[in-house]
Amino acid sequence: MASVARRLRREEDKTIGLVPTMGALHEGHLSLVREARRMCDVVVVSVFVNPAQFGPGEDFERYPRDLTGDTVKLADYNVDYIFAPAPEEIYPKGFSTYVSVEGLSEPMEGVARPGHFRGVATVLTVLFNTIRPDFAFFGQKDAQQASVVRRLVRDLAFDIEVVVLPTVREQSGLALSSRNAYLGDEDRRAAAVLYRALSQAREVYMEGERSPKRLAEAVRGQFDAEPRARLEYVGVVDADTMEKLDRIPEDRPVLIALAAHVGRTRLIDNIVLQPARQKSRASAEP
Ligand code: AMP
Repeated sequence: MASVARRLRREEDKTIGLVPTMGALHEGHLSLVREARRMCDVVVVSVFVNPAQFGPGEDFERYPRDLTGDTVKLADYNVDYIFAPAPEEIYPKGFSTYVSVEGLSEPMEGVARPGHFRGVATVLTVLFNTIRPDFAFFGQKDAQQASVVRRLVRDLAFDIEVVVLPTVREQSGLALSSRNAYLGDEDRRAAAVLYRALSQAREVYMEGERSPKRLAEAVRGQFDAEPRARLEYVGVVDADTMEKLDRIPEDRPVLIALAAHVGRTRLIDNIVLQPARQKSRASAEP
């Protein structure tokens, strides 16, 4: 790890872009790499299945790992460094310092996966201090994570610009995810309900509905019609703070985020409702 850091120090007059990933790369990850390549002189892709962000009974052991395949994919993108540390490089013996972003990491994924964002914020802090990037690239696919990262960077005064890029989807609307590899044919077909449900909520919003409860009902209605999928939660929240809303505001972007189980696979997805009167950075959502 020290050697990557040392080599990067020699690039000090160049801009460094970091794309943190857990590997099993797909077109969603590669869209981040492409933008990093466009924006930065030096591109670092980290590949690390971070044990600290998985809870007991989650899929840490069976999470897909394919460093050879990832290296082949990245060869097309002229990446400067692939940083794939062993767990003990990130967490040396006696590691005992953790970073928690309070508030916005608590609802939704925070309830469903206690400790998840603490693991994310901690590993990113180590990666940021090791790589010292000027830019760090994240996907809107993990919208709450993107908000947590923005807050982490601001609060701990990292001199890093966080870039969040739109969710890449299959034709069916299914958001690309390394976990889609768990899905058999039937479940993959059924998993299209996540985006269908979000799109239905958007449609209801476009027709003038401003009650978060009704938008959530529109989501639930789609899940009721798909027996292979079970909705875990749907949140209608402020897109920056993750705070629950009583009414959809006309001047701020709203995030509709959900998690669902399709067979044994847990998937998440989201959309941003952008008020017509205001365009903000969350307008990345297609
Ligand atoms: P992961 O390997 O799942 O930790 O993801 C690494 C990064 O890729 C995160 O910033 C994700 O939000 C982003 N990402 C994952 N899937 C997609 C997708 N379908 N579209 C855009 N970005 C994605």
